[in-house]
Amino acid sequence: MLILSYILVYLMIFSFGIVIGSFLNVCIYRLPKEESIVKGASHCMTCGEKIKKRDLVPILSWCLLRGKCRNCKAPISPRYTVVEALTGVLFLLAFLKYDFTRQALMGILCCLLLAALVVVFFMDWDTQLISTPVVIFIGLLGAFKLAWNLLAPRPLDNVSLKSALIGAFVVSVPFLLIELFSGGKAMGRGDTYLMCAAGLFLGTKCVLVAAFVGMITGSVAGMILKHKTGSSKFAFGPYLSLGIAVSAFFGNYLGDLYLRFAGFIQ
Ligand SMILES: [Zn+2]
Repeated sequence: MLILSYILVYLMIFSFGIVIGSFLNVCIYRLPKEESIVKGASHCMTCGEKIKKRDLVPILSWCLLRGKCRNCKAPISPRYTVVEALTGVLFLLAFLKYDFTRQALMGILCCLLLAALVVVFFMDWDTQLISTPVVIFIGLLGAFKLAWNLLAPRPLDNVSLKSALIGAFVVSVPFLLIELFSGGKAMGRGDTYLMCAAGLFLGTKCVLVAAFVGMITGSVAGMILKHKTGSSKFAFGPYLSLGIAVSAFFGNYLGDLYLRFAGFIQ
């Protein structure tokens, strides 16, 4: 019976993540065009037909319609379904990390951070732009968590005022310098703002882990891309958001592992 109720809760969290993922798709598509993310119905990209309510069920509708528009039969990108499923999985992982019965608020903050990172990942991938409202949202999550840690009797995590403030600048300032010295070629201003907001949320140690993971995966992806297309121009945001997400889950562990390996701690 207990296992059954666990499965039911997992299914609910996953479904909730999918629904939020469906909203994130709207953000990824409309934020670069500065369209409203709450007003206006979804349309087919090919024929412009308004999509019916019954065809708006995340993942299921796409599968039932076999990835085609009901009206014009034009293929609908599987990307929407991928974003929905990914958000569902991320929410489930956050639920597993932060037991919602004991660390509910931290779990919710983690889900909100992951949702914002999904938008940064795909929007930067598509447009090479990092949305300022989304970065501000991440910064507000960090500020809220910090205020809670300072004022509430039980802190949400081990990020202190000092750690959050140093975290906000320890990566973003070097990134800003790289941007200025490279004339904006190696780094964009959006990457700097993103790491500033993420640093406020993650604290010093975890934002360094995030930058480390982001730069390693970004360099590997950049080399593969250059080998394939010959172009060295690519968006860094997806790899930074990957690094931030990895660090949100394993930052403390990876940071300590590295420090122990380097001989700084026993
Ligand atoms: Zn259509």
